[in-house]
Amino acid sequence: MKKEYLLTPGPTPLPPQISLAMAQPIIHHRTPQFQEILKEVSVNLKWVFQTVNDVFILSASGTGAMECAVINLLSRGDTALVVQGGKFGERWTEIARAYGIIVEVIDVEWGKAVSAEEIAKRLKACPQIKAVFTTLCETSTGVDNDINKIAQVLKNSAAVLVVDAISGLGAVDLKTDLWGVDVVVSGSQKGLMLPPGLGFISVSPKAWKLVEASQSPRYYLDLRKAKKALDKSDTAFTSGITLIIALREALKMMQLDGLENIFARHKKMADAVRAAALALGLELFAPSAASNAVTAVKVPAGLDGEKLVKTMRDVYGVTIAGGQDELKGKVFRIAHMGFIAEFDIITGLVCLEKVLYQMGYKFTIGAGVKAAEEVFLK
Ligand SMILES: *Cc1c(COP(=O)(O)O)cnc(C)c1O
Repeated sequence: MKKEYLLTPGPTPLPPQISLAMAQPIIHHRTPQFQEILKEVSVNLKWVFQTVNDVFILSASGTGAMECAVINLLSRGDTALVVQGGKFGERWTEIARAYGIIVEVIDVEWGKAVSAEEIAKRLKACPQIKAVFTTLCETSTGVDNDINKIAQVLKNSAAVLVVDAISGLGAVDLKTDLWGVDVVVSGSQKGLMLPPGLGFISVSPKAWKLVEASQSPRYYLDLRKAKKALDKSDTAFTSGITLIIALREALKMMQLDGLENIFARHKKMADAVRAAALALGLELFAPSAASNAVTAVKVPAGLDGEKLVKTMRDVYGVTIAGGQDELKGKVFRIAHMGFIAEFDIITGLVCLEKVLYQMGYKFTIGAGVKAAEEVFLK
């Protein structure tokens, strides 16, 4: 027998009440019942996005929402600035280039956050930049960027600020309106505790002007269609009915906790994992800007990082994430986003210690778990 535990940065574990909500018979989406649900969810999404602007729901994974942002804001030949400090920053570049957008790249060393001053400098040097694309939590490196600071840089500029909060939303604070973030994209399978399949995008009035002016080809992801539908509590195409019903449950759960408590919980989980890693003599990959959504830890020299992750998963049922691209085998990532509690973390750490021990890594058994417990006892 093997019991499974999921500690990955998407998908994340589902609360039982969310699974149960999805087990109900399907209803039709063009009905007053479903419109009520969509209305409720639309209001509560604004709450979690911390905006008064519309939040559109797409039947797509997070990347669909990213593509939606690019094509609705920009046209072929426009210039964008992309913060590229990991795999998901790179994705902004790839999507934009696929649509003929000229991309100015800020190459940030993996494991570091972008400097807002660098963004200011690049905007000044290249006034034709129409949009700045960045990432709240760069999931591939476990780094949180300082979106508040970046937004201040853009405050008096003509460019709009677009933030990939796919893993950050509902884990790390993002005061969309207060800070002046124009567009926020997210997805369902991370902090929102849902299965994959929904994408979200909020759009400020400043960004909406670009939506109306964009010459990019678009059909399914055309936000003008989405807006027309949302104004009538509808979606342009068949709604992701089951996932939206699940989203209603997730948002209810989150409202019972309150945003501040949710962020504090994520910080505590992150603090515990970081303390455990250090107590085991391991090194954090991003010590200066470590995310509260996911922690990346360096694989100690001489150890096979891919084997570590694979053994934890295939022998013991604890799934964490390895490194991607240039970090393959060099880091492992423990996610602490969404429906994760203290004892999930403790279980994950016990398994980590067990496999590290079996692989011949030298440390005091229990040191990581003890350090995590001490954080939880505070
Ligand atoms: C997971 C993730 C994505 C990709 O989302 P998909 O749902 O896999 O398309 C993009 N950006 C970030 C920061 C992510 O964590």
